[in-house]
Amino acid sequence: MPVSGTGAYDPGNIFARILRGEIPCKKVHEDQFALAFHDINPQAPVHVLVIPKGAYVSLADFATMAPAEDVAGFWGAVADTARQLGLVVPGYRVLTNIGADAGQEVPHFHVHIFGGRPLGRMVPAG
Ligand code: AMP
Repeated sequence: MPVSGTGAYDPGNIFARILRGEIPCKKVHEDQFALAFHDINPQAPVHVLVIPKGAYVSLADFATMAPAEDVAGFWGAVADTARQLGLVVPGYRVLTNIGADAGQEVPHFHVHIFGGRPLGRMVPAG
C-alpha cells in the first residue's frame, strides 16, 4: 500500500498510460528503471520529466516501497538524462511535487528536470 497522504495508485493516470505505450511521448532516455520525456507544457527551455517504471504515487511512496536497486537505478537515470541533455556544465534543477500543497497533478512519481537558462529563485514568490 502507498504511504499515508499519497492515496492509492491509479493505473489509469496519464504517466502509467505513457509507460504502457497507450499515449505517445517525446522520449529522451529509457532504461530498465526509468523513462524520461519532454514535458508537454514546458516551464523552461529544457523541461523533462523522469518517471520510474514501477507504480508509485510520489517520492514518499517510492522511497518507502521501492527496492533499493530501483531507487538507485532511478536516480542514476535522472543524472544520465541531465547529462544526455547537456545540462551538467551550465547546471540544472531537479524538482518533485508531492501532494496537494505542492500542486502534484499526476499521481505517478516523477521528477522535473529544468535547464537551459539561469533559473532564479528556488521557490517563486506568491
Ligand atoms: P506535477 O504538477 O508535478 O504533477 O507535474 C505534472 C506535469 O506533467 C506537468 O508539468 C504537465 O505539463 C506534465 N504533463 C501532463 N501530461 C503530459 C503528457 N501527456 N506528456 C508530457 N507531460 C505531461
